Amino acid sequence: MGIALRHIVRVALAAGLIAAAGSAHAATDVVATTPELAAIAREVGGGKVSVHSLARPNQDYHRVDARPSDVARVGKADVFIRVGMDFDLWADALLAAAHNRKVSPGGPGYVDASERIRRLEVPTERITGASGDIHAMGNPHYYYDPGCGKVIAYNILLGLRRAAPEDAGTFDANYKAFTAKVDDAMQRWQRALAPYKGMPVVTYHKNWVYFFNRYGLREFGTLEPKPGIPPSPAHLNRLIEAMKREKVAAIVVETVYGKKFPEFVAREAGARLAWAPYSVGVMDTHDYIGMIDKIVAAFKDALS
Ligand SMILES: [Zn+2]
Repeated sequence: MGIALRHIVRVALAAGLIAAAGSAHAATDVVATTPELAAIAREVGGGKVSVHSLARPNQDYHRVDARPSDVARVGKADVFIRVGMDFDLWADALLAAAHNRKVSPGGPGYVDASERIRRLEVPTERITGASGDIHAMGNPHYYYDPGCGKVIAYNILLGLRRAAPEDAGTFDANYKAFTAKVDDAMQRWQRALAPYKGMPVVTYHKNWVYFFNRYGLREFGTLEPKPGIPPSPAHLNRLIEAMKREKVAAIVVETVYGKKFPEFVAREAGARLAWAPYSVGVMDTHDYIGMIDKIVAAFKDALS
């Protein structure tokens, strides 16, 4: 009995030591507001991080209701990554409730992924609630442009290095590998879209200004009259008439939006409708480059 007890104690001690050693090298805990930021954080963090996205794939990122479990998650996070530009404002209440100085603005683990991004569609006048436009600080959908994807990765790299300096070498190597993969893929995306330079496309929400800027496509109009304002019959009729007049034949809509309005406009205007992933994690996409692959394919499909 004595031997058995000693054995149990020894095993328990060993388990405790292993647990203690494990926690000393625990993965850096990363919380991101959206699946795209989470996907890029996984690339840069690799095996040294555990990453969670607060918004789920295909959830309108403009409006996310935080759950009580999210407060606990942010409370124990080492790194917090957000889109910024007043896009994921819902994260502010979470940060306030979580009382985690490490990941609060100014803390070492706080990452605003919009830093160093050249902002587009910054309003020249102050947007008020009455105007309805929800892009008050400029267009926040830069993460659909793979060039911006590399900038996001850089901002995340700096945050990870601050939060876990002992793993800086690994993060640097992962960052280099990720940007090299993006540069490689950029060539095939350029080739795929090159034949459609200057061609007009109709979309649902103003999600694509950065992407269009990169690939030389033209936003002809959106089903929403203004960002965040649902389509109205009067607006859709004007859009359909304009599309017919100008022979605009391509519509691309993200999976987060309903089918009714896009299918109606495509039918009435005689245009070709293609669906693009709104998030990493839908349409069988598992990482950032996979999502951009599907997006490029959707625009190519609608335009050809
Ligand atoms: Zn938006």
